Amino acid sequence: MEKVIIIRYAELFLKGKNRGFFERAFETNLRRAIQAYEHRLIKQSGRYLVRDFAEEDAEAIMEKLQKVFGVHTLSYAYETASDLDSIFEVAKGLCRPNGTFKVESHRGDKKYPMTSVEISKKLGGMLLDYAKGKLAVDVHNPSFTIRVDIRENGLALVFGEFIGGANGMPVGTAGKGLLLLSGGIDSPVAGYMMAKRGMNVDCLHFHSYPYTNMQAKEKVVELARILSEYTCGTTMYTVSVTHIQEEIHEKCRPELMITLLRRFMYRIAERQAKRIGGQCLITGESLGQVASQTIEGMTSSNSVVETLPVLRPLVSFDKNEIIEKSVKMGAYETSILPFEDCCTVFLPDFPAIRPKMKDILHEESKLDVEGLIEEAFTTLEKIEL
Ligand code: ATP
Ligand code: MG
Repeated sequence: MEKVIIIRYAELFLKGKNRGFFERAFETNLRRAIQAYEHRLIKQSGRYLVRDFAEEDAEAIMEKLQKVFGVHTLSYAYETASDLDSIFEVAKGLCRPNGTFKVESHRGDKKYPMTSVEISKKLGGMLLDYAKGKLAVDVHNPSFTIRVDIRENGLALVFGEFIGGANGMPVGTAGKGLLLLSGGIDSPVAGYMMAKRGMNVDCLHFHSYPYTNMQAKEKVVELARILSEYTCGTTMYTVSVTHIQEEIHEKCRPELMITLLRRFMYRIAERQAKRIGGQCLITGESLGQVASQTIEGMTSSNSVVETLPVLRPLVSFDKNEIIEKSVKMGAYETSILPFEDCCTVFLPDFPAIRPKMKDILHEESKLDVEGLIEEAFTTLEKIEL
């Protein structure tokens, strides 16, 4: 009897002709996720099995696999000889001490001497005898289920529960985007959401060092690292916008600070995306959440991006829905650490809620936009995660 992990995938099947492409990406990502642990990954009749791992690594492997997009469900299972006595030996160990249960069987080996219904009935009876009245069968609403999968090689997999996977599509099957990653709650979730649809995500963070401190930067690096567990790795770029903020602060109307800074961020982001083969920008904006995220604010920042789409996967989400996802992906505790990212420096008391294009362009004309962008690129740093 050997302990294995079953990995099932779902949506990939829908992809007809491209199925090979999706499966290759999926398999690459699975291997990458658990490469730190000794194991063997094998593909078997439309699913994967992880085997030959150390018992003490089982939970860590399971945790990593739960972060791989494309995984539908997972189970710890035991592989044993397919005769009923051997199956019974394993099934005993999976039973709870009391309650109701049912047995579900599946027969991959059509030459097996019993039908799946017969296997379920027989094994159910054996378990009832074994439990001496402490267990009862309930096929509609059991408190636990014993599952048996008879395979063609004289072996069977016996397991209990399905553990939910991350679902979505394998990362690497839907192009590449550049995420504008702040130290907040929203942008890591936005990156997560795009990776869930199969997109490769690199990150770009703007800081205002020395107005913001090193801890603020470390916090964002940590957020990128958390995200990288879902994005199968990421490259994080950082750019300083200190000189841009100083220049805006000195020359422009204070209530347009955020609006003007945003436009610089988007311009820099588009250029950086193109340098790295990115096909879109991704932000954590959500309509109406803060003053700069009105439709007018989005129009103003969007209009400086010339050739790439700006994807805003959270645009219609309530804050509490975003927080829920942030908690689920494991970023929340880091996101709420109290270190400022750049936007809180020089923050005006009353930011413009519906900035007018005419005013924005007028204020911007006081600045050497190209020169400031070029200067920003001299501060570019790269961190592989
Ligand atoms: P977040 O929780 O992601 O910080 P937020 O609600 O604080 O978002 P804003 O500060 O208005 O909203 O930022 C909107 C979006 O602009 C962010 O989600 C992010 O994509 C981008 N952004 C803001 N600040 C930065 C920054 N310092 N570096 C990179 N991107 C940023
Ligand atoms: Mg923020």
